[in-house]
Amino acid sequence: MTKKRRTRFAPSPTGYMHIGNLRSALYTWLISKSQGGDFILRIEDTDQERLVEGAVQVIYDTLEMCGLDHDEGPDVGGPCGPYIQSQRLDHYRPYAEKLIKDGKAYPCFCSKERLESLAEGSDGQKSYGYDRHCRNIDPAEAQKRIEAGEPYVIRQKMPLEGETTFHDLVYGDITVKNEELEDQILIKADGYPTYNFANVIDDHEMGITHVVRGSEYLSSAPKYNLLYEALGFEIPEYVHLPLILGTDGKKLSKRHGATSFQDLVKEGYLVDAIVNYIAFLGWSPGSDTRELFTLEELRQVFNEQNISHSPAVFDYQKLDWYNAHYLQELEPEVFQAWLEPKTDAFFGDQYYNLPVLAEVLQTRVNNYQDLPEMLAFFKEVNPYDLALFSNKKQKLTPELSAEILQTIKSGLEALPEFTREQVHTLLMGLGPEHGWKTGQVMAPVRWALSGQTVTPGGGTELIMILGKEESLNRIDHALTLLSSQA
Ligand code: GLU
Repeated sequence: MTKKRRTRFAPSPTGYMHIGNLRSALYTWLISKSQGGDFILRIEDTDQERLVEGAVQVIYDTLEMCGLDHDEGPDVGGPCGPYIQSQRLDHYRPYAEKLIKDGKAYPCFCSKERLESLAEGSDGQKSYGYDRHCRNIDPAEAQKRIEAGEPYVIRQKMPLEGETTFHDLVYGDITVKNEELEDQILIKADGYPTYNFANVIDDHEMGITHVVRGSEYLSSAPKYNLLYEALGFEIPEYVHLPLILGTDGKKLSKRHGATSFQDLVKEGYLVDAIVNYIAFLGWSPGSDTRELFTLEELRQVFNEQNISHSPAVFDYQKLDWYNAHYLQELEPEVFQAWLEPKTDAFFGDQYYNLPVLAEVLQTRVNNYQDLPEMLAFFKEVNPYDLALFSNKKQKLTPELSAEILQTIKSGLEALPEFTREQVHTLLMGLGPEHGWKTGQVMAPVRWALSGQTVTPGGGTELIMILGKEESLNRIDHALTLLSSQA
């Protein structure tokens, strides 16, 4: 029987959730949940200098919003706690001391200055970092120096010969020469473990079966392997995830656009769209050509064999495509709620009809950034190009346009009630009554109200969105201009 899968998402609390991190969380969740396993949240906060207030909450909130529920973690507890690395400090040193006892690690007393001079590589030799200066200090002497209070770090004794091979489920077998591996630090002079050491101990103590992380950790994996071996731990499966690049082939950064989950949400991307799109950053459902998946559907079809090792490209246009789809799927009231804060801010004191505006925008908008341009004319009509009001195809002259607008104006003023139905009936009735085509009636009203030939929504919607007063004002304005030109 295969072991129940246990995966972990181990973010450092930076205060935001980078898209790459969210992709790691999603894949880590899927790798476990597609097989009915456990998903564990561990906060890696040992880099005390980089701590950000409220940052852990950002992690909880993101996971919750995305539906990536964890079985164990700082907030929900579990049998392998604590799940916050800074609360596990007493877990690490005993392992390092055992390694010293077994001759697999050693205290190193080298000063910062000495290490810095090594880094400069003054002898011009190819250097793999630390020169193993303290590796052969007699253990009894080392013990005396420790007792005398000399500061030290604990380093792992890497094998000097041979090769280390590890298998990655995405990248296959990777082999490195042991001589290229530095005697890495396990415990720093301040007593804190290094990330490299802590993650191995934590993954072991938490029974992690699949270690899923970004490919920037690929080069560290041989070191982790040697640590697992030195400690006699079972080596987990490794799943390294491909880099995420912008469409220009450069590493995704702020230059490309929003790079954090929080910023994407602020820009109007829906969580379902983000999760669906991010699932495709390095994975595809094989022969299945569908692109739209809910999280639950992803869980059902996900298979780590289909993770690609070539870099993924983050394409904001594709994300827009997903978002447009998910926005269109929303219930009208939910779409309105998505829209309202932005349109309220945009219109300020000006009246506008939210439900009608929401209706015409729901099928047209990709994200919040689209709004200012789409909405601009509601606020202010560009100076009219009166040429708009003559159109050969529609057999419209400025005179006829003016006549139609005048008739609409009187009709609007005379409406018993300003409702969408009545406005619609009015506009539709004018053609038959006066011998005009419907298109001839609708075109000048759109031009007068918007100054454009293309608008979201037609005449009725525009009138409703702007309200009676503003619509009449705009019609009046157009009529004045048309008459001054006549
Ligand atoms: N704390 C590491 C990070 O945020 C985790 C890497 C890992 O998953 O091991 O990059």
